[in-house]
Amino acid sequence: MKSTIRKNTYRAIYRLLNRVSPLPTDCGQLCSAACCDCGGDGSSEESLDFDMGIYLLPGEEKLFTKQEDWLKWNIEYAEDFEYPASWSGKVYFVRCKTPPHCPREMRPLQCRFYPLAPYLTEKGELALILSPTALPYQCPLITERIPLQNAFIQATHTVWTHLIRDPLIYDLVAMDSEAIRKNKKCTEIVCSQT
Ligand code: SF4
Ligand code: SF4
Repeated sequence: MKSTIRKNTYRAIYRLLNRVSPLPTDCGQLCSAACCDCGGDGSSEESLDFDMGIYLLPGEEKLFTKQEDWLKWNIEYAEDFEYPASWSGKVYFVRCKTPPHCPREMRPLQCRFYPLAPYLTEKGELALILSPTALPYQCPLITERIPLQNAFIQATHTVWTHLIRDPLIYDLVAMDSEAIRKNKKCTEIVCSQT
């Protein structure tokens, strides 16, 4: 898929997010890194049940060689799944072979944003919410409403402000936001600064 986000922009986003984390300490210690460990290495069918793994955003794959020994790559076609109508062609999907261990500076964006998720309000304003996605584990940052570091929230918001300038990513966030409203899922706004 043709992304308007350049490789260098993705690099800059990775650098910005390398400097922040949800808590001052490693939140993986609260839950034995539940969000890393639940998917396994993709070698069993079990990990497919919940689609555990990480979708890369359009163009994010440019940061990888696809030969990384810690990642297992899968290619899907957007037309075969519930992606926005504007999406067509390859979507890259990765699973970690050695969770929760990975080269931290190369974690995909999905790993860096969690437990926050982007949300477009009915007025079209970008907000961040706690991820409403149903998963086979519980993130204590969500269930116990543990306050997240402001620097993490602000950096994540800044990044999403840039990302949704890409039409494909905008369409994805808009579609997810619409689904959240339709399913009346909780949208506790964590950050709505524009
Ligand atoms: S984001 Fe949540 S589930 Fe993932 S390691 Fe941190 S506390 Fe655990
Ligand atoms: S890439 Fe790293 S942070 Fe992301 S799920 Fe894998 S082990 Fe966890």
